[in-house]
Amino acid sequence: MVCNPTVAVTVYNPATEEPIAKLPEAGVDEADAAVARARAAFPAWRAVAPADRARLLRRLATLVEEHAEELALLETRNVGKPIADSRGEVGMVADVFHFYSGAVDKHHGETIPVGGGIDLTFREPLGVVGLIVPWNFPLNIASWKLGPALACGNTVVLKPAELTPLTAVLLGELALEAGIPEGVINVVVGPGRVVGQRLAEHPAVAKIGFTGSTEVGRGVMQAAAGTIKRVTLELGGKSANVVFADADLERAAAAAPYAVFGNAGQDCCARSRILVERSAYDRFVSLLVDATAGVRVGDPEDDATEMGPLISAAQRESVSSFVDGNVVFRGEAPDGKGFWFPCTLVEASNEDRVAREEVFGPVAAVIPFEDEPDAIRIANDTPYGLSGSIWTENGARALRVARALETGVLSVNANTSVRVSTPFGGFKQSGFGRELGMQALEGYSEVKNVFVATD
Ligand code: NAD
Repeated sequence: MVCNPTVAVTVYNPATEEPIAKLPEAGVDEADAAVARARAAFPAWRAVAPADRARLLRRLATLVEEHAEELALLETRNVGKPIADSRGEVGMVADVFHFYSGAVDKHHGETIPVGGGIDLTFREPLGVVGLIVPWNFPLNIASWKLGPALACGNTVVLKPAELTPLTAVLLGELALEAGIPEGVINVVVGPGRVVGQRLAEHPAVAKIGFTGSTEVGRGVMQAAAGTIKRVTLELGGKSANVVFADADLERAAAAAPYAVFGNAGQDCCARSRILVERSAYDRFVSLLVDATAGVRVGDPEDDATEMGPLISAAQRESVSSFVDGNVVFRGEAPDGKGFWFPCTLVEASNEDRVAREEVFGPVAAVIPFEDEPDAIRIANDTPYGLSGSIWTENGARALRVARALETGVLSVNANTSVRVSTPFGGFKQSGFGRELGMQALEGYSEVKNVFVATD
């Protein structure tokens, strides 16, 4: 880790409001030093034989598995997410490194028939890449970027969010233990507007892989423009959960709360607009209220907990500002210390602020629609386009609507968005570029085309 020893970042447990760690805070000089170290490490790292690079990534995956409980507990204490969720996320981190270890020698160039010679393409690493990560899925999202970046032969500077740097620091240590050479992964803990901004502007950084809000992403894109950096942006969302009257309503209603209230709603994929066909509206809302009342809110370290607190007092204040209309349901939340907010369902129109802006808290807008074209119109009437779900027993309708929705990731009769081997990313102002799957490798490599004259 690179840091300025004179300034400290204090990290809190959002369930108790207690400080849990104090880390030295990096500034511009430390960001520059990290880039210099990554640059120095690049030639040797890109030259590591593919099978050896794969072996190192595999070793890192194994170390994540061996330290799974420690990583999960750290993530839970720092983010406030239920321990069962943290365990699942750490499991995914290991799977991500396993996947990209296997991808190292499967992402390659081709030969293209041309006249007068032979044409070859190579997949070249970019060099030093800056990875900027948000606080809601700190370790998971770091791994989605590190896996393909390292597999392609890049070296990295990883900047976790100021609120949640702990698992990134531990992951950096595990990478060294795995035998990944010094300088290949550099973790820099510091303010986004200082360290993140510097990485986005730095002439020696070839690409920024950014996940965060649309507003900050816009600034990163502008800062990166000065040096024509490659940019991948994974930004906010306001996704629709579209429930048709011909759906299995019990199943759809049982799943819907977990598509919004998971991670206390602090999820870019939250299906926070629940669109329900008018003819099934009353029945579905009644089932949804019952299901939401069953979400277990409480101590994140309890195995049975399904929803913990929000990340900070500021986040709670921001989330509260969205609840001023027709509340159909408001759940329970613990009293006392911790940034708690109850599961909340609000009846809304798609024009209301709660349906237009990303709440990033456990608040869902329930919106009726008349028929299939109306559902598509409302679902697409948003500047975002990240995820979404369609609930129907009609297979043709499922595919028709899936093709019509302007969004990067969709589920039919399910509410999951993310899988290690499948591409993830947004349409419209939810960003561009894809993470996960083989597609992520495209964003961490350049195609070089070489023609060899043979005539
Ligand atoms: P944020 O945009 O405030 O911060 C994200 C990261 O950017 C942090 O590390 C922050 O320090 C850094 N940053 C802040 N200012 C910067 C600047 N000027 N230059 C460079 N970096 C800077 O986001 P957040 O509040 O940490 O996370 C929540 C947001 O992230 C939500 O909008 C959510 O939808 C989005 N998100 C998107 C995805 C996705 O994959 N699409 C996943 C998770 C979260």
